[in-house]
Amino acid sequence: MSKRDYYEVLGVAKSATADEIKKAYRKLAIQYHPDKNPGDKEAEEKFKEAAEAYEVLSDSNKRARYDQFGHAGTQGAGGFGGGFGGGMSMEDIFAQFGDIFGGGFGGFGGGFGGGRRPQQVKGSNLRVRIKLNLEEMVSGTQKTIKVKRMKAAAGATSKTCPTCNGNGVQIKVMNTMFGQMQTQTECGTCHGLGKVADHIPAGANAQGLIKEDEEVAINIPAGAREGIQLSVRGKGNDAPFGGIPGDLLVVIEEEEHPEIKRENDNLHQEIYISFAEAALGTSKEISTVSGRVKIKIDAGTQSGKILRLAGKGLPSLEGYGKGDMFVHINVWTPQKLSPEQKAFFEKQIQDGEMQAEPSGKEKTFFDKVKDLFS
Ligand SMILES: [Zn+2]
Repeated sequence: MSKRDYYEVLGVAKSATADEIKKAYRKLAIQYHPDKNPGDKEAEEKFKEAAEAYEVLSDSNKRARYDQFGHAGTQGAGGFGGGFGGGMSMEDIFAQFGDIFGGGFGGFGGGFGGGRRPQQVKGSNLRVRIKLNLEEMVSGTQKTIKVKRMKAAAGATSKTCPTCNGNGVQIKVMNTMFGQMQTQTECGTCHGLGKVADHIPAGANAQGLIKEDEEVAINIPAGAREGIQLSVRGKGNDAPFGGIPGDLLVVIEEEEHPEIKRENDNLHQEIYISFAEAALGTSKEISTVSGRVKIKIDAGTQSGKILRLAGKGLPSLEGYGKGDMFVHINVWTPQKLSPEQKAFFEKQIQDGEMQAEPSGKEKTFFDKVKDLFS
C-alpha cells in the first residue's frame, strides 16, 4: 500500500508552522468526521489518514524524522507511529486528538463503536445512615437494611430520541466570519439520554423507574467510626433506560453505649463500689468492647482511682495499635444507715479510727488527667 505524503494529506507546505498543521487537521477532521459521514468508508479512511499525518507532523521529533527518512522512518521498532500498524482505531484518534475539536466537538470522546452514543448515564446515589454500637465498630459486622430504590420497571421500554437521533445532543451549525462553527447543546427532549420512553407501565415515572423496597446486605469492616461513609456499588437508583445504577452511600453513626463512653480510640467507664468494698478490696465484672471482663480492685482503693486496661479500646484508625479502656472508680458513700451502722460509725469517730490519712503520694485530679495523656 503506497502511503501519501503526510504534508499532502493535510494539504500544507513542508514549511508549515505547528499552528497551520493543527488548523489543517482540524478542518479535515471535521470534514471527514464519522458523525457527518455515517457509514461512509472512504470518509472514515480519510479521517484516519489525516489523524495519522497529524500524529506525526504535530510532534516535532517525529516530524524531523519524517522529514529525513520519509515513511521509512515511521516503521518498525524505534520508528514512530507504532499505533498505526493496523490502522488507528476511532477510539485511539478521539482519545489522542479529541481536544482538536475544541468547543464544537467537545463531546466526541464519549464512545465509538457502531456510531456515537451519548455518555453512559449513571443513576443517582442513595444515602442511608446506620447506627453501630461500639462492639460492631470494633469487630465489623454485616447489616441488612431495607432501601427504597428507583428501579427499572418491568415492561418499560424506550426508543431512540427522535429529536437528536440518540446522540443526546443537538448540533447547531452557524456561519461566522471564521467559517462554519458548530456548537452542541444537550438535547431538550431526552436531556442527554439519547432515549425516550416508549412504553411506561402503570406506576412507573416518565423515565420508566418505579420505587421498590430492596434488602441490601452491607459489610461493615472492623474499625468503622462515626461519620465514615461506605459505598455499596450499584445499590443506588437505577439509571433511566439502562445506564449504570448509582451507589448506596452508608454513613456510620455511633450508638451510645449505656456504660462506655468513647474518646477517640480510648474508652472510659465509671464504676461504683461500696465503702466496704473499697476498704476490703474486691473484684468487679465490667463491659468491654470484647466482652465482659473481671477487674481486681485492691484493698484501700481511693475514690477517683483510674484503672487502665491496655489495648481494650478501639483499633486505631491509622491502622496500628489500639486504644485503652479507662475504668474510673467511685467509692459510694452510704446515704442511709441502719441504727446499728450508725452506732458503729459513731464509735469509729469517737475512737479516732478510720481517719483520712493521706500520705501525700495520692494522685491529685490533675495528676490523673496528666496520666491519661501520657
Ligand atoms: Zn434527544
